[in-house]
Amino acid sequence: MEIETMYEQLGVSRAVYEYGEAVLRDLRPRFDAIDQTAEYNQGKVLHAMQKNRVNATHFAATTGYGYNDDGRDNLERVYADVFHTEAALVRPQITCGTHALTVALSANLLPGDELLSPVGAPYDTLEEVIGIRPSPCSLAEYGVTYAQADLKPDGTFDYDAIRSKINDRTKLITIQRSKGYATRPSFSVAQIGELIAFCKGIKPDVKVMVDNCYGEFVETVEPSDLGADMVVGSLIKNPGGGLAPIGGYICGTKECVDRCAYRLSAPGLGQEVGANLGLMPALYQGLFLSPTVVSGALKGAVFAANIYEKLGFACVPNATESRHDIIQAVTLGSAEAMVAFCKGIQAAAPVDSYVTPEPWAMPGYDSDVIMAAGAFVQGSSIELSADGPIRPPYAVYFQGGLTWYHAKLGILMSLQKLVEAGLVTLPEGK
Ligand SMILES: *Cc1c(COP(=O)(O)O)cnc(C)c1O
Repeated sequence: MEIETMYEQLGVSRAVYEYGEAVLRDLRPRFDAIDQTAEYNQGKVLHAMQKNRVNATHFAATTGYGYNDDGRDNLERVYADVFHTEAALVRPQITCGTHALTVALSANLLPGDELLSPVGAPYDTLEEVIGIRPSPCSLAEYGVTYAQADLKPDGTFDYDAIRSKINDRTKLITIQRSKGYATRPSFSVAQIGELIAFCKGIKPDVKVMVDNCYGEFVETVEPSDLGADMVVGSLIKNPGGGLAPIGGYICGTKECVDRCAYRLSAPGLGQEVGANLGLMPALYQGLFLSPTVVSGALKGAVFAANIYEKLGFACVPNATESRHDIIQAVTLGSAEAMVAFCKGIQAAAPVDSYVTPEPWAMPGYDSDVIMAAGAFVQGSSIELSADGPIRPPYAVYFQGGLTWYHAKLGILMSLQKLVEAGLVTLPEGK
């Protein structure tokens, strides 16, 4: 069977397929650069696994208290070596990214301390953690205050504002690498490094935590290489490689990570407890696969930006910009187009492909939200997924793809649905 026929069988017309191939022809140099980063990061992960002599005993399940859990302890050494930190806490007991960030913040901030975000508002879920939106057990309830320096209108750091916000109570600085669902740019590791150096220049003993969600392995360096005291993320995003069914990580200085372990379990117990429940094979193998999985997701994001920008839709990042995370925003301009796009992503999925996504009211949102996800791990956003609030400018956020070919099919299907709905006309002569 010809590849065109295969795509037709999957629901992609010859015209859409050929349009995609024409766009792809110009992307080879970009894809080569992505492959080179993946190759470097594969080496980094392999070196950490070899150095720590990973072997089959590390894949054994533990239960109960999980004392002397060699597999768990060694996985944490591997993570520490990958991120070039003194210590790491990598646990299935960390339920998600927000939980990992909460542990890192609440372990390292005491009553009277102040937390500063020098990069504008943090990710939505952190608003309740910090107490920007009042919530039981927020940091604010425990007497930790919060200060924020907004970015300049062009998305760069406002160094004067940041300097004015650092005071004798400033204990921890939180920097979010990825834009998340905001419209600001994501930051490169080099930019984050400059910001860390600036803050530590003003206050040498201040601690810096980087919310590393969606950023891991996108570049050959991580924020922990450039002065971050902690990097924090979710295992159902990049570093779990699609195989981790749950978990989060905190890599950093021994001092910070020890405190995180005491906060996660209990003072006095720390990292000594926490059974691995049989998840070690998935966590090791997921980390092993992560560099190539991230490269597939990045190719998908670059492909999507190039497909949609050429059709007149605004994309963030745009078609040619360098990438600092795996998220792609496409402004589609109408509710109907958002629905059609998400239907295409859903129809391309390996799981739940027959389901039709519909806009729906969601807690915490003031408008309906549409989501497309057909994932092996529920809610996993390293797997191909798309979502967005149904309100102007009608932007859909697209991320993931465990393989480049699946990401490619998802994007072609999204375009197919837009063409079928009469919302997009393909240019002639492609
Ligand atoms: C996903 C994400 C989080 C929160 O992670 P959850 O696993 O959804 O709780 C925090 N910050 C950023 C930038 C994220 O992308």
